[in-house]
Amino acid sequence: MFRLSQGQLNLLETCPRKFQYSYLEQLAAPATPEQQASMAWGKRFHLLMQQRELGLPVEFLISDFSGTVEAELGRCLEALRTAVPEIFTTALSTSQTFRESEHCRTLNISGYLLTVVYDLLILDDLDAQVLDWKTYPRPQNPARLGKNWQTRLYPFVLAETSEYLPEQISMTYWFVQSQASQTDKPEPQSLKFAYSEAQHQRTKAILSKLLRQVTDWLQDYQAGIPFPQVPETSPLCKSCQFAVRCQRTKRSLSASRHHLLSLAEIPEVSL
Ligand code: SF4
Repeated sequence: MFRLSQGQLNLLETCPRKFQYSYLEQLAAPATPEQQASMAWGKRFHLLMQQRELGLPVEFLISDFSGTVEAELGRCLEALRTAVPEIFTTALSTSQTFRESEHCRTLNISGYLLTVVYDLLILDDLDAQVLDWKTYPRPQNPARLGKNWQTRLYPFVLAETSEYLPEQISMTYWFVQSQASQTDKPEPQSLKFAYSEAQHQRTKAILSKLLRQVTDWLQDYQAGIPFPQVPETSPLCKSCQFAVRCQRTKRSLSASRHHLLSLAEIPEVSL
């Protein structure tokens, strides 16, 4: 059984060859120090929210010393608490039936195990809310986030694995670090995506097609044929860490053209 997450679906849709290098061959370059620091901050914020939801003390994870990572975490946590106090009520309200942090679900479809982890899932009599913490600023173009597989897969799996109708499900991102500068008060911002039966059917169709392709690509790969690349003209290759491996750098492209020309110029040898 092949497990697939939203991140892997994004990669498969963007460039299947990149998926091959990153996941099947584990060739991805290590993260830069800036990326590592940002990932560590995000991980600590998620842990903070999970501990708080479990009713465990979080004070020792944050501090009053300004300029420290702990102080920044504390400021963002407090700003989120002010913006959406209802998230911080760990006890079930009268209409709520379930709430859990880091809630994991899987869906077996076409031989693949689709896996999702909700930062916070709140269910009540009428609605199912999926909440996700983001530690980067709110995107300027919400439509792009709407097309991301996280926005499509998370409600899809919930609709397939619960009694809730698609119209009862929503997905909300909270951008917890939105602020003008380090000294400004953080102002968390949100983006909410409603879900519908039409979106559910569309996602189902796109997913089935993509998974059929993945099955074909995996079979080809076992026979020695690599996953497809994006077209040579794609701007994606310019910033891709696998550009050299794919011969998509300017130098490697001209070298391969030169190589082809040289081959064409070789006179035929009569037997
Ligand atoms: S260089 Fe281009 S084709 Fe190769 S993995 Fe990256 S995006 Fe895909």
